[in-house]
Amino acid sequence: MTINTRKEHDYWDPNRTGFVTNYPNFMQWRRMESGQMGTEGKPLNLYLHTPFCVQRCSYCYYKTTNLRGTDKNARMERYVNALCQEIKLAADHYQLGNRPINSIYFGGGTPSLLPEALLERVAQTLQDTFKLGHQPEFTLEAEPITLTPGKAELLKSLNVNRISMGVQSFDDGIIKGSNRSDSEKKALKAIEIAKQTGAVINIDLMSGLAGETMDTWRHSVGRALSTGVESITVYKTELYTNSTYYKQLRDQTIVLPSDEEELVYMQYAQDRLMEAGYQPWSFYTFTKNGENVHKHSPSIFRGDDCYAFGVSAFGRLGDWVFQNSNEEERYLQFIDEGQIPVQRGHFLTSQDNMTRDVVLTMKLVSLNLDNFQAKYGFRLEKLCADAIGELRNEGYIDVSEEEIRLTPKGVLHGDYSGKRIAQSLMRMYH
Ligand code: SF4
Repeated sequence: MTINTRKEHDYWDPNRTGFVTNYPNFMQWRRMESGQMGTEGKPLNLYLHTPFCVQRCSYCYYKTTNLRGTDKNARMERYVNALCQEIKLAADHYQLGNRPINSIYFGGGTPSLLPEALLERVAQTLQDTFKLGHQPEFTLEAEPITLTPGKAELLKSLNVNRISMGVQSFDDGIIKGSNRSDSEKKALKAIEIAKQTGAVINIDLMSGLAGETMDTWRHSVGRALSTGVESITVYKTELYTNSTYYKQLRDQTIVLPSDEEELVYMQYAQDRLMEAGYQPWSFYTFTKNGENVHKHSPSIFRGDDCYAFGVSAFGRLGDWVFQNSNEEERYLQFIDEGQIPVQRGHFLTSQDNMTRDVVLTMKLVSLNLDNFQAKYGFRLEKLCADAIGELRNEGYIDVSEEEIRLTPKGVLHGDYSGKRIAQSLMRMYH
C-alpha cells in the first residue's frame, strides 16, 4: 500500500490514495494567533445617517426631508432617539461593541442641521457602545449655513476631527440656481469657523452645475484653494430623474454643461489642485501634500466592514451588503418594535467580492497586485491581461509588478478603468 505522505501528488495522482480531508492541504497552513480569526479583531467603520436638510438642492437625488411645515425639533428628536436605539440594538445583535473602530462618518442629509443636544446624544451613545478611547477619525458633513461658532465648538468637544463642507460652488448665481441657501460669503465664513476647531477640513465642489462656465468654475476652484483647507473633493454632477434639475431640463428652464465641457472643468480643477501640491487619494478627492488621507472611504473600498445606522443607510458586514429601510416612518416603526431596520441586502459571492474589489479599489488611484493575489489567489494582470494592456496603451493606467496605478488621464476619467477591468473579469464567468 502507498504511504500517504500528504504531499501534493497524493491529491492529483490517478489512484484512490490521498483522501481529501481539507483544502488547501494543511501542509500549506502557517502559524497564526486566535485573534486573527473571527470578526472581533477586524476593523469596523461606522456610518450614521440623518435625512434632514435645510432645502432640497436642485441636483439632489437622495431621499431627503426638508423640515418646512413640520414641528422640526420634535421630528428630529424622534429620529435621533431611534438612531441611538438602533446603535445599541445592532451593536448588541451583531456583537460589534468590542471591535476596533477605524472611523465614524456622520452623513446625510445634513447632520450639522441637528440641534446641539441631539448631536451630543448621538456622540454619547457611540461612546457608551463602542471603544473610542483612541479617538478614531470622526467625520461630520456640514452645510455652511448650519455651522455656527457654538456648534463648531461642540463638534470639537465631541471629538469630530474631520468636517466635510458641502460648498459645491462659490458662485452666488450658481448657488442660488441650485436652490441652496448658502452664498460665497457664508461659505467662506463657515470654513473659517470649521478651521478654528482644528479638524481636517474638506470642501466638496461639484463640476457641471447648471449655469457653470469656465469663468465661474475658475472662480470656485480658486476660492477653494485660497482657503488652504487640507482636502478638496470634486464630484461630477449626475442627473437623475428624481431631481429638480431633471424636471427643469425637460422644461428647458436650465442649461447643464455637456459631459465634454464637464471633463474640461475637471481637467482644469485637477491641474490647479496638483500645481498647488494637492495629491489625489481617490479620483475625486485631493489632499494637501498627500497628507490627511481620509480613512473611512478607503477602508470600505478595500472591503472592511461598515455598519450603517439610520434611515436608508448602506452598510457591509462580512459578505453581506445591506440597506436600512428608506421610509422614515417604516424605519421608526422597526425601531419601536425592537427590530433591526434592514430592508434589503445581497450576499457577496467570491465573484462579487473580486469584482467589487477591483471597481472600488481602483477609485483609490492604485490597486496592489500582491494584495489582490493574497486575497483571491490570482494575478489580476494575467487574468485580465487584454483589458489591462489596452488601458495601459490608451494612457489610463501604468502597470508595474506591484500595482496598477491611474495616470492623470485615468484619474480624470473616474471609474472608467476600474469598470473596464471588472467587465473583463465578469466576462470570464459568464
Ligand atoms: S444638502 Fe445634500 S443631501 Fe441635502 S438636499 Fe442638498 S444635496 Fe441633497
